Amino acid sequence: MLSSSPTCVDPAHLHPRDDAASQGGDGQARRARAVLGLWGDLRERRRAGRLRLLLDYDGTLAPIAPRPERAAPDHAVFALMEQLLRTPSLDVALVSGRSRDTLQAWFGHLPLPMWAEHGLWHRPADARSWRETVAGSSAWMHDVVPTIQQAASAAAGARVERKVSSVAFHYREADPTVGLRAASALRRQLVEVIADRPLEVIDGKMVIEVRRAGVSKAIAARHVAAAGVDPVLIVAFGDDHTDEELFAALPAQSLTVAVGADIAVADHRLVDVADVRRVLAVLATAQLATDVVAGHG
Ligand SMILES: [Mg+2]
Repeated sequence: MLSSSPTCVDPAHLHPRDDAASQGGDGQARRARAVLGLWGDLRERRRAGRLRLLLDYDGTLAPIAPRPERAAPDHAVFALMEQLLRTPSLDVALVSGRSRDTLQAWFGHLPLPMWAEHGLWHRPADARSWRETVAGSSAWMHDVVPTIQQAASAAAGARVERKVSSVAFHYREADPTVGLRAASALRRQLVEVIADRPLEVIDGKMVIEVRRAGVSKAIAARHVAAAGVDPVLIVAFGDDHTDEELFAALPAQSLTVAVGADIAVADHRLVDVADVRRVLAVLATAQLATDVVAGHG
């Protein structure tokens, strides 16, 4: 972790550390360019009164784990979130595809606004309870879940995750060829099963999910963009298609940051979770956050 002292901020903290050296000079230079490019853009847009960060969790704040339940936050993530929440002139919210129960269990103790199941559920910073943003029935699950269960039983390592209003087919742990083939066949089947219903099939990273139509991370983007009257620079971080939906719904002057290579269009692209944490850790120092929003330095 980087120093949290506002008097000890050094842009050198943004340079890749030795852990990137094993990737060779090109990889390290690419990392450095990506991180410093993002940082330069943040400073360019420093006239914004506040920074508002929208953070995806899996693949953005924490590495993708073979089994989703193994991707629980580590100490560094909690320390980082606490630091961000303490930083003046900076708001932070979590926008995840995870269930509200999981997010509540992990981050419920923090005064952190959260969006679960791709925007379907929202918990404001100062509330204990979650509210549903899009009304609808989940009766369709009776028809869809067996189709997904059948696909999972035919692909060793694949598994089904059932949330309140969506159901997902995870194939991270399946043989790559088998998993991909099963996912592709399942996608075709699902399109038939959900025909004419207000549902949609979405592709994530090694996951296919069926959810209510109209539910996406764009809900969170619109809500956050509308909140408050102060000038604000929204900066969104994400790593897959569901984050692209959020990026697309943000005001034009926002900054979008893709992590990895799966997102086609973004203002900036960081190599991995380690670089996301590095940038956020520097942003979380009061001095630099103030520099960015006030134009000092
Ligand atoms: Mg993600």
